Amino acid sequence: MTSTFKKAYSKRVTFTQTEISKVWEYGSWRFTAKGSGLTTSSFKDAFILERSAMHYNESAFVNGVYDKNRDLAYLNLLEVLESGDYEMKEIDYDYTYRVPAELECCGEWLSLGSFTNTCPHCDADYNGSGSLLASRSQWGEETGEHWSECY
Ligand SMILES: [Zn+2]
Repeated sequence: MTSTFKKAYSKRVTFTQTEISKVWEYGSWRFTAKGSGLTTSSFKDAFILERSAMHYNESAFVNGVYDKNRDLAYLNLLEVLESGDYEMKEIDYDYTYRVPAELECCGEWLSLGSFTNTCPHCDADYNGSGSLLASRSQWGEETGEHWSECY
């Protein structure tokens, strides 16, 4: 089998995030949006834009369309802004993260971010450095377990 391999590498990320926070008697609320030099109005816009991309937030979506008036976090933000008593600050982020190696199998790039990475087309298993692992039928023979228990 011939395969093409892309090495893992570190990627540097820098960005500024604006944070609005308020401390209530019963706890503190914190809202963040990417960007700097934001006013409360542009903060709201940026916040809504980010929230509308969070599709796991099911209660804020009607038929797949984001509705800010159903988003509790947005309603909480409005409450904080209306209270007139909150803290607004900018935080600079600068970090590096590891982009996993990739390997081409069956004409597609397979990300090797896990301990075991399986090609969806041919079911070949690769480790994080792109070495082909023994087939699953062999795992069973070696360990005496069915392969589905190896996850
Ligand atoms: Zn494959």
